[in-house]
Amino acid sequence: MHSAGTPVVKELVLLGGGHAHVAVLRRFGMHPVPGLRLTLITRDVHTPYSGMLPGYIAGHYGYDECHIDLGPLSRFAGARLYHAEVEGLDTAEQRVLVHGRPPVAYDLLSINTGSRPRTIDVPGALEHAMPIKPVDLWLRRWEALQARVLASRGELRILVVGGGAGGVELALATQYRLHRLLAGRGGDPARLHYALLTDEPKILTTHNPGVCRRFERVLAARGIELYTGQRVMEVRPEAVVVEGGELQAADAVLWVTEASAPDWPRTAGLAVDARGFICVDTNLQSVSHPSIFVAGDAAAMPEPRPKSGVLAVRQGPVLADNLRRAAAGRTLLRYRPQRNFLGLISTGDRYAIASRGGWSLQGRWLWRLKDRIDRRFMERYNRLPAMATEPGPDIAAGIADGAAIKELSTLAMRCGGCGAKVGSTVLSRVIQRLPAQRRADVLIGLDAPDDAAVLEVPPGRVLAQSVDYFRAFLDDAYAFGRIAANHALGDLYAMGAEAQSVLAIATVPYGRERVVEQTLYELIAGALAAVEPTGAVLAGGHSSEGAELAFGLTVNGLLDADRVLRKGGLKPGDALILTKPLGTGTLFAADMRRRAKGRWIDAAIASMLVSNQAAAGCLRRYGATACTDVTGFGLLGHLVEMTRAAGVDAELQIEAVPLLDGAMETVAAGILSSLQPQNLRLRRAVRDLVQATRHPRYPLLFDPQTAGGLLAGVPADSAEACLAELRTLGYLTAAIVGRIAARSDRPEPITLIQ
Ligand SMILES: Cc1cc2nc3c(=O)[nH]c(=O)nc-3n(C[C@H](O)[C@H](O)[C@H](O)COP(=O)(O)OP(=O)(O)OC[C@H]3O[C@@H](n4cnc5c(N)ncnc54)[C@H](O)[C@@H]3O)c2cc1C
Repeated sequence: MHSAGTPVVKELVLLGGGHAHVAVLRRFGMHPVPGLRLTLITRDVHTPYSGMLPGYIAGHYGYDECHIDLGPLSRFAGARLYHAEVEGLDTAEQRVLVHGRPPVAYDLLSINTGSRPRTIDVPGALEHAMPIKPVDLWLRRWEALQARVLASRGELRILVVGGGAGGVELALATQYRLHRLLAGRGGDPARLHYALLTDEPKILTTHNPGVCRRFERVLAARGIELYTGQRVMEVRPEAVVVEGGELQAADAVLWVTEASAPDWPRTAGLAVDARGFICVDTNLQSVSHPSIFVAGDAAAMPEPRPKSGVLAVRQGPVLADNLRRAAAGRTLLRYRPQRNFLGLISTGDRYAIASRGGWSLQGRWLWRLKDRIDRRFMERYNRLPAMATEPGPDIAAGIADGAAIKELSTLAMRCGGCGAKVGSTVLSRVIQRLPAQRRADVLIGLDAPDDAAVLEVPPGRVLAQSVDYFRAFLDDAYAFGRIAANHALGDLYAMGAEAQSVLAIATVPYGRERVVEQTLYELIAGALAAVEPTGAVLAGGHSSEGAELAFGLTVNGLLDADRVLRKGGLKPGDALILTKPLGTGTLFAADMRRRAKGRWIDAAIASMLVSNQAAAGCLRRYGATACTDVTGFGLLGHLVEMTRAAGVDAELQIEAVPLLDGAMETVAAGILSSLQPQNLRLRRAVRDLVQATRHPRYPLLFDPQTAGGLLAGVPADSAEACLAELRTLGYLTAAIVGRIAARSDRPEPITLIQ
């Protein structure tokens, strides 16, 4: 996280977690720039390292060995990580337009979003071919292709389109993998046929003729037919049509053609080359927009270079330096691309061909060399250096200009009076940016603000209220606002109430006025994204500046007085249903230590964003006798509350409890939430404790949850039908986790069934 206590003066936004940006993140982590806040916006949280991708496809590497996990790396860099797709730029307002969330403001922008194979001008390519990028989508289709190959009986022809290094490597790697897969299952690899097709007169035209000849020999020896000078005009479900109308039969088409650029840089008004790549000068700075830097495939260099991961990697350190210099108004450095560099291109079977300038070489030892170099590169990102010492509250030289210094000169006073309100102009600007908040039974709310909100409770109904407030565990204010609101609303759903209105309370880190405004806006816009679909409105709130981001809500709900769903209604024989998986406490504790994988945190956030509203309705329809939302006390703490209130015992099937991915691993590594010791005090409610504690899932029963699921008692005869409906409503991991028994004379109400 951006260091608490240091005001945010400038925003550096990184678009894409490509090969250059990983170096930028690492370098800023090692040498932070106080006052400069980093935000990484990326489509993928695990970024593939291109050098090892063919080896992954061939089966030589596991997923984590060849993907850089941007979760821990961003945390190391003190960068906010926004897992989202960029859709455009508003260069006049200096804002990035991001799918599904508010725009992100920048002072300095760096773009490293890579490229994709061109599909747009070939009819059918997008529908029927498998473009290699985005890699995550390709990998999913690749899994499906492997399953299809295994399930098939007859001949299959696989066509790879693209004769560059990527296409050649992919053809060889996929052939190696599929042949081994079939042979390993007793199948006949001879029924698989391979062809490589390019519109160029030769393959590997950016390499010397020796490399080309060597690969032609390898392709021939491996039985891969080669077609040169054939341009694909159309892709059909079972063939491609080449120029001249000839058909090339294909049961699968792997698409690795020339790199193409997205449209948004051009439509945003950036200077681009004929193919749409962003024109930069030798400092990697956009030639049209000096506050924008570009590296990797996305950049069009003054002297054209082939698109390659190696180039992006080499640009990383210069880019990092120049971003630092640009932020401080210092002279930029020149990036001098190497004329020749060693290319090691693999043949899929742990063998490689080397290419540099005019010479080439081949051998098994070159694969071993490549493997060593690639692993060493990955190690730099998978084993990050110890955290840099917390920067002081002072701001790096050059970051703050005269206006910023003047604006921040009141900071000492603001620090003294922590909790100072966010200025009223900031607040009213934020409110103006939000959609109007109106509801008939909110008599006085934000649409006509006053000292307090005035709410109407219709006759025969009662008001349910709850409040939650916590420190940010995410740097992404929008996602944090959504989760906090979802968490707070969970209390209303657990009682069977309909959400009516919410009041928000926010603490936003000190900073320049526009930075404070944007953070407050993101926080409240996030909360509204969770509140609005429920039909409730934001009726008021309070905001202050402080050292750390924190947010909470008071939630108001309406319900019929005789239909309140209490904790204490459980009946012997009821089945216990839990609607969401456990594990957010340990996972976020691990995330803070940079020990959680990005995809685990991603899945945990997705789970926290799932509303309990539909689940509550479903549980009620199936006659739920009692319900609570699983939050800070953990599953066991909340279950004990329910059994005590109802005067019953409960049996919990420990193996049936759904868990978030990674939670078992982080618990096994001894990483637990700081609240866990307090929750563990409730272990005295568990029978046969010594045996229970031996189970590896045991600690997770005490794991505090943020925006956790509902735990409810449902009559046994309707429990399976209720579960089936919960799953169709999207609660895919909902489970029956135990049953209620009559109160026994044992002092402990809970039995863990292993
Ligand atoms: C099979 C194959 C093998 C290859 N092997 C090699 C090799 O051995 N050596 C080599 O040098 N090159 C190789 N290449 C080329 C190499 O993959 C690319 O040149 C390289 O990946 C470009 O790196 P980059 O940093 O520009 O972008 P990328 O590595 O593609 O990273 C782009 C990042 O931006 C993110 N992103 C993209 N769009 C958006 C968006 N709209 N919003 C938010 N985030 C976004 C992505 O999620 C990703 O994190 C190979 C290519 C292929 C297809």
